[in-house]
Amino acid sequence: MGHNLDEVDRKILRELQTDGRASFRDISSRIGVSTPTVSARVQAMTDMGLIKGYSAVLDADMLGQVSVVISVDVKPSDVENVYSKLVDEEMVRQLFILSDSRLMLMVSYYNQIKYKRFIESLSQIPEIRGLTTSMVLKAPKEAQRAALTDEAGLLIRCYYCGHLIHDEGVKLKIDGRYHYLCCGVCAKLYKEKYDKLKKSA
Ligand SMILES: [Zn+2]
Repeated sequence: MGHNLDEVDRKILRELQTDGRASFRDISSRIGVSTPTVSARVQAMTDMGLIKGYSAVLDADMLGQVSVVISVDVKPSDVENVYSKLVDEEMVRQLFILSDSRLMLMVSYYNQIKYKRFIESLSQIPEIRGLTTSMVLKAPKEAQRAALTDEAGLLIRCYYCGHLIHDEGVKLKIDGRYHYLCCGVCAKLYKEKYDKLKKSA
């Protein structure tokens, strides 16, 4: 497998996006490739960080919670400062940094008092220039942001230098995992660093 997704990868990912609990054997029979191929591809896509995990999809309405979209206008120089204050707040379920130095928050709550307190705390952050809130009435579509179109490519950063890897990158298999490097030099240095760390561990 190179660094670009091929049709087999995309088919596997589509199956997993539909049913994260599908077994490698089920997927193999559905898409017509061998079980070891499915297993190897999933392993590789997990190692490179494309597959971030598997989780249960819950029905938010059934939990009786209220969701609000908050649009926040921030001074351009303070975007990072502000989102770092909000990102760990449990009520904030989604956080997007938008163009024009705006943040978009999806907030879910049960407790009106806690929500009011949260809005008050926002109004006390001096870097916030203004905000609007809109309650979510219905959510007719809630799909993962990762869209698997046929054009889907891959952006992998070199594990050593952090630069984006182009097609001619180097893939090292160490201790049963794949490690992605941009070039021979980084591969050599990475391997040395890895061995050193392993020795000292
Ligand atoms: Zn590199």
